[in-house]
Amino acid sequence: MPIRRLSESMVNRIAAGEVVERPASVVKELVENAIDAGSTRIEVVTSGGGASLIRVSDDGSGIAADDLPFAVERHCTSKLESGLDDIRSLGFRGEALASVGAAARLMVTSRQSGASQAAEITVEGGRVGAVKPAALSAGTRVEVRDLFFSTPARLKFLKSERAESAAITDVVKRLAMVNPSIRFALSGSDRGSLDYPAVSGTDGQRVRLTQVLGADFADNAVAIDASREGARLSGFAGLPTFNRANSLAQFLFVNGRPVRDKLLLGAVRGAYSDLLKHGRYPVATLFIGLDPAEVDINVHPTKADVRFRDPGLIRGLIVGAIREAFATSGMRSSTTATGATVTAFRRGPIRPPASTTAWQAPLTPTGNAVANGLAEPAQVAFEGGAVPSADSRYNEPVPEPSAHPLGAARAQLHETYVVAQTADGLVIVDQHAAHERLVYERLKRGLESRGVGRQILLIPEVVDLPAEDVDRLVDRADELATLGLVIERFGPGAVAVRESPSMLGAIDASSLLSDIAEQIAEWDTAGGLRDKLEQVASTMACHGSVRAGRRLKPEEMDALLREMEATPNASECNHGRPTYIELKLADIERLFGRR
Ligand code: ADP
Ligand code: MG
Repeated sequence: MPIRRLSESMVNRIAAGEVVERPASVVKELVENAIDAGSTRIEVVTSGGGASLIRVSDDGSGIAADDLPFAVERHCTSKLESGLDDIRSLGFRGEALASVGAAARLMVTSRQSGASQAAEITVEGGRVGAVKPAALSAGTRVEVRDLFFSTPARLKFLKSERAESAAITDVVKRLAMVNPSIRFALSGSDRGSLDYPAVSGTDGQRVRLTQVLGADFADNAVAIDASREGARLSGFAGLPTFNRANSLAQFLFVNGRPVRDKLLLGAVRGAYSDLLKHGRYPVATLFIGLDPAEVDINVHPTKADVRFRDPGLIRGLIVGAIREAFATSGMRSSTTATGATVTAFRRGPIRPPASTTAWQAPLTPTGNAVANGLAEPAQVAFEGGAVPSADSRYNEPVPEPSAHPLGAARAQLHETYVVAQTADGLVIVDQHAAHERLVYERLKRGLESRGVGRQILLIPEVVDLPAEDVDRLVDRADELATLGLVIERFGPGAVAVRESPSMLGAIDASSLLSDIAEQIAEWDTAGGLRDKLEQVASTMACHGSVRAGRRLKPEEMDALLREMEATPNASECNHGRPTYIELKLADIERLFGRR
C-alpha cells in the first residue's frame, strides 16, 4: 500500500477523539472559551445528557464575522500571543471548535462588541458552511447538536443520560468555583437547574464556594493562604472530621484551571495522612497560582494534567499550609455532627430513665469521679509525659471554667467520656481518642528533637514473629530507635524489645511490633522517611493510649483537657474521629424547651 496523506476531515475526526471525549468535554471547552472572552454571565443548556443538545451563551467580546471561519478551523486561535511558556488563557490549542465541528452539528452565532450585526456559521461533521447574518444582541452562542453522529463508534461509549448530565454539572461547578465574578446558569430537560449569581469582593470566593458546595462546607473548613517561592496556595481545607468516602470532593485549580492531577491529589492525601483513617477522604478546594513558566499545561489535549517545573515545591506548599492551618486554627471539631445530635435528642422518644445512668450521679464538681479515682491504683495516665505532676499543679483551686476553651472537668462517664463545663456549655471528651492524639503529637515532637524519652526494660521482652517481619523490623531498627523503640534480633524468628517510649507506659509489645512490621511492609519508595516514621508514631500512639474503660482521677481529666488545648490538631484523633464534642447552653436550653 502506498503511503497517503490523510484527508483534512479524517485528521479532524481523529483529533476530535482526543479533545471531545464525551459531552462534558464539549461543555468544558465552550465554557472555557466564554471565560476567555471576558464574559460576566454564561448560560449552559443541555438535553439528552448533552448528546442531543449543548448550548452555551455568553456576553463576552464576541467574534468578528470575518473571523468565524477561522474560529472553526483547526489550529486557529486568537490566544497564545506570547508563546507556550506564558499561557494566560484557558484555551490555546485552537482546536476545540474544529473538533466539535468534526464530531457534531455545530452552529456558532456571535456579535463582536461594536459590530452592527451578528453573524453565524455552521459546521456539520466537518463540512463548513458559509457565514450568514444572524440575530443576536451581544456575545456568542454556540450550539452543538447530535454529538458523535459522524463517529458512531464513540456514541456507543457514552454512559447513561443521567451519568453524562452529571459529568456536565461537575464541569460547570468546577469552572464556577474558580470564577466567582461570573454568573453561571445551567439548565435543561435532562437535569435540575443551577444558577450562581456573580459575587465579588474579598469574600466573593467563599460565597461562591458556598453556592456550589453548600453552607456545610464553609462551616467545616479552614481558610488556607500561603506562599512559597512565588507560588501561592489559597482556598479552603475541610476539617478532617468532615470527610468523604471518595476523593470526588477535592477540587484543585492551577492558574484558574480545574485539574485532576496525581501530584496534587497525593499532596492533599499527605497533608491529611495522620488525620484521617484509611479509606476516608478530605473535602478541599485549593487554588494554586504561579508563574505560567513554572507549569506546563500542554501535557494532554484536555489540559486536565499539569507538570510542575518544581513538584517538590508545590507538594511542600500544600502539605505545609494545610497542616499549619489545622495546627493554628485551634479547637474546632465538625459542627455538623453536633447539630445532628441535638436534633436527634430533640426528636427522640422520651424514655424512662434507666436505673443507674450516670446522669443520676450527683453533678457536684467531680464528686463521683473523685471517689472512683481515689479507689484506683496509682497508675497515672501520663507516665513520662510533659504533664506536671499532681502536686505541682492540682492543689491549686479548680480554675474558673471560662478560663479554658475546654472548660473544667466535672465527671467521667462510663469510664470513657470526660464531661467538662465550659463558659457557655459543656464538652464531652472521648478519652481514648484524645489521648491517642496527644501521645502522637508528642512522638512527632520527639522525632523533631530526636528526643523521645525511653524506658529501659529490666527484662527485654522477646516477641516471636514470622522471619520476614523480623527482617523488616531489624532493617529499620535505627529509625525505630528515633521513636524510642529499641529492638534487636533474637534468633531467626524473634525480636527482643530492650527499650520502649516511656510515654506509652506498659505496651503489648507483640501486637505493636506486628502492626509496625505490617506497616513497614507497605512502605513504598514514594514519600519521605519522615512521613513513614509519622505513620509508625501513629500506630504506637494507638497502642499506648488510655483505653476507654479506664477510670481517671479528676486531676488526670483536667490535665488531659489542658494538654489538648496546648496540642495542635487536638480536635481529631489520628483516625479523624472527633476527640470531643461541644454542646452550647443554648442547645441544652432548646432541648428542654426553655428557648
Ligand atoms: P482556543 O480556545 O484554543 O483558541 P477554540 O477552538 O476553542 O480554540 O476557539 C477558537 C477561537 O474562537 C478562539 O481563539 C477565539 O478567538 C474564538 N472563540 C471561541 N469561542 C468564543 C467565545 N465564546 N467568545 C469569543 N471568541 C470565541
Ligand atoms: Mg477554546
